[in-house]
Parts: sequence; structure tokens; C-alpha cells
Amino acid sequence: MTKHKPDTKVTTLGRDPEANFGIVNPPIYRASTILYPTVEALRNPPTGHNQLRYGRYGTPTTFSLQEAIADLEGAAGTVAVSSGAAAITAALAAFVETGDHVLVVDCAYEPGRKFCDGVLKRFGVRTTYFDPALGAGVARLFEPRTKAILLEAPGSLTFEMQDVPAIARVARQHGIKTLVDNTWATPLYFKPLAHGADVSIISATKYIGGHSDLMMGLISANAESFEQLRAGAYAFGHHASPEDCWLALRGLRTLAVRLKRHHETGLIVARWLQARTEVKRVMHPALPQDPGHALWKRDFTGASGLFSAVLHPVTPRQFAAFCDHLELHGMGASWGGYESLALPSDPRRARTVCPWNEDGELIRFHAGLEDPDDLIADLEAGFARMKQA
Ligand SMILES: *Cc1c(COP(=O)(O)O)cnc(C)c1O
Repeated sequence: MTKHKPDTKVTTLGRDPEANFGIVNPPIYRASTILYPTVEALRNPPTGHNQLRYGRYGTPTTFSLQEAIADLEGAAGTVAVSSGAAAITAALAAFVETGDHVLVVDCAYEPGRKFCDGVLKRFGVRTTYFDPALGAGVARLFEPRTKAILLEAPGSLTFEMQDVPAIARVARQHGIKTLVDNTWATPLYFKPLAHGADVSIISATKYIGGHSDLMMGLISANAESFEQLRAGAYAFGHHASPEDCWLALRGLRTLAVRLKRHHETGLIVARWLQARTEVKRVMHPALPQDPGHALWKRDFTGASGLFSAVLHPVTPRQFAAFCDHLELHGMGASWGGYESLALPSDPRRARTVCPWNEDGELIRFHAGLEDPDDLIADLEAGFARMKQA
């Protein structure tokens, strides 16, 4: 890893102006064919990571991004793929074969669960879901053929924290790989590998892109796991477009300042919601009342702008009156852009171990880069509409 502090790293990593006529940003190198000058060179192509060989394995633009993220994650290497979902599936598939078993935290991102219940199952790999609060107790679920554990801290929609170091420690003792979906925190606020995990997965669609116009996944692994991960991802033909890598690099340059603001605004809005009589509870691990707060405080260095709130029960008409006319909070999937979102969500479909029993509506909020006063005024007007409906 380079020596600089994180804010400096995001502005310097993956750049080499001298190699590109003094141009500040790595240019977009597009390529499929790479020509070899001699038979000798053709028969001995470069095979290392981040070496130019064939377009599918990336170009210097891809390598700039992969090198930057690997440094931030403290990883032996990073592979860029076409989406966060592809990053999850490529990472899981790299470590299992027929007859194996994987453990997946119950609050994991739903499309990852679908991959386990569909594709992995068809290929003879079984999945057991587990309670995010189990910690090292997850060892009770280990089987002789358990090969991987997938964590996501905090979890999708409901934001349960997990004790990543404790789980990774028992997993390592049994030769099981620990994979962490690190999309929420990004490597700036949590470093899975430094906490014992083998693989860190991020949907760069979210905060790395940062502008709601990019789809990409990044998978990073430690030295013991990287070759297996890379070979697995390339066997499936995964690839990330050089344009998209260039956009991800552009997003990376401002990641530190954006995240700081998302963290601050997210907490301001979350605290305001917590004090509202319409709100039953707020799920945000940086709030001291949150059950995951101690773990968050111990392992993370910041929070992003994504959290949820459960409302006290209201009629569908009242709920629609709140959601349908918000001016600054959009309703849509994905998050991590500069803009705020308020997305009605239902965790019921995506839980099998810890049933979701709330009878009020859950709204997942993304605090964007707007002024928090305006965001609060927008929500306040929504509650007023709800009351009148
Ligand atoms: C969005 C998301 C993904 C999937 O990313 P895509 O780029 O949309 O495929 C994976 N994990 C988490 C936690 C996410 O929020």
C-alpha cells in the first residue's frame, strides 16, 4: 500500500501523467485486439494481472482503476466487472464446486441470495442463511464442505452489523473464505481484508461512480485468494468497459469529500426522523441507539448516507401522500449518487432466518449532497400531507 492518507490516495492512485503526454487523468484506452510484433512475443504473452494481453482482460484505463482500488482495499489485486451483482456472483462462484456449501448472512443483498438459491443450487452447491448477530457462533453451521461465507455489513434495507473479524477468524481456522460486500462503507470507511476477510466486493455503481450514471462491480482479494478469484472471474468472461473504468476513476477523485458529506447529512436526517412521532425506529449503525453501534464504532471509520426508517402504521393513502409528492427525495433503486432518495422497501421477501415482523412501512433513505435543511423541510411537508390524507 502507498504511504499517503486516504484523502490523498483517492486523488493520486492509478495516475501516471508521464505515461500519457502529461495528461492528468488516465485516458480511455479502448481495445479488443492487441498486436504482438514477433512470433516469440505472441507465444509468450504477458499473463500477469494489470498487463496488456487482450481487450477482455482490460486496458491501461482498467488497470489504473484496479490498482487504485487494490491499494485502498489493501488487497493483492482487484478485478473490475460489469456490475455489483456480477461481482457477488463471480466471487462466490470462484470458490465453490459441486457438493460444496456456502453460508450467507440473512440480510445480504437480495439478487445475491437469488443467485445462491437458483444458479448455485442448480450446480449442486447448497446455501444456509444465518442470523447477522451470530458472530463467531456461525461456526456451529460449518459443514465439512463449507467453502465460503458471504457477509454484508451493514445489511441491505435493515442495516444489521456483523462481527466481521470474529467470523473471519473462525472461518480461517476451517479453511473457509470470508467474502464481504463492502458497498455501504467503501474501502474509505471499512477495510474488510484488514479485518480478516479474504475478499471485498463493492458495487461501484454506488459511491465510487457517485453520479447515478454508472454500473460496475469491483472485487478485491488477499494474496492467498486473488489468483483463484481472478481465474474464476475471467473464466466467466467478465469485463468492465474502459469508459466505465474512466468514469469510476473520475468518481473516485471526489469520493472522500462526498462521503464525508453523505455521512454528516445522513446523521442529521436520521436524528431528525428519530424524533418524529410518525417514525417507530431508525436503522443506522452510527446512531448510538442502534444495536450494531458498538461494532460499527470499533471497526468502521465513517458512515455513508444510506439508512432506513420504519413508520408507525398508516393507511396506504396516507403513505402515498407522503411518498408521492416529495420534491427532493426520488423513488428508485440504487443509491450512492449525489441526490437524495426515499424508497419504500419490503425486507419480508428477502429474509428466511430473521423474519421481518414490522407492520409499519419501511423507507430506505439515501441522504444526498443537498442542504440538510432542505431535505428535512421536504420530509416535514411529506408528514404534513400524510396527516391530512
Ligand atoms: C446495489 C448493490 C449491489 C449490486 O450492485 P449493481 O451494480 O446494482 O449490480 C450489491 N450489493 C449491495 C449492497 C448493493 O447495494
